[in-house]
Amino acid sequence: ETADTLLEMISVVVPLLNEERSLETLYDEIANALEPLDHDFEVVFVDDGSTDGSLAVLSRLHDELPNIVVVHLRRNFGKAAALQAGFLEARGEIVVTIDADLQDDPAEIPKLLAKLDEGFDLVSGWKTKRRDPLSRRIPSRIFNSVTGWVSGLRLHDLNCGLKAYRAEVVRGLRIYGELHRFIPVLAHYRGFRVGELPV
Ligand code: UDP
Ligand code: MG
Repeated sequence: ETADTLLEMISVVVPLLNEERSLETLYDEIANALEPLDHDFEVVFVDDGSTDGSLAVLSRLHDELPNIVVVHLRRNFGKAAALQAGFLEARGEIVVTIDADLQDDPAEIPKLLAKLDEGFDLVSGWKTKRRDPLSRRIPSRIFNSVTGWVSGLRLHDLNCGLKAYRAEVVRGLRIYGELHRFIPVLAHYRGFRVGELPV
């Protein structure tokens, strides 16, 4: 075997609700970011009960490209359940999550992977330049600091959709409801090393 085939496979999990306009661009940007790395990768799109043309776009992409997995949820279950469904399908030793609305830049993924290599089990993106209004930034700051204070895991940005994990971390998760906001805390409690990286 060549060294290439020994590199860990990356599964990118994308939860989505009514994102027909961004899906193709998102796939292209993920592929541009990961192709230079020599890892095999797959993109697991989880359609969380979309009512727009998302599923049709995904079916077309699935027909055209070999490394796309589409999970279709019968109704809208929420982001945590969508992530959970994607984690169950993901085959990679490394799992990356990214939002479908292009708020996170796939070009940042290699930096997260490099930080995993430094010895972390979960690396969470930290959005330093948020485009959200104050009415969202202030509650988010309070959430991050209260959760950090209660849990002992101090992160700046628990809510960032862009994260990289060793597969072991997601294999043990059972998330639903609003629990996606607490994934780093749940991992921290289980003894995994959690880090963050400005994106
Ligand atoms: N999303 C989902 N199910 C939902 C709501 C959102 O899969 O019920 C997806 C959405 O399409 C996006 C990601 O989860 O890819 C983050 O959602 P959103 O942008 O609404 O969250 P925010 O940016 O406000 O944190
Ligand atoms: Mg968003």
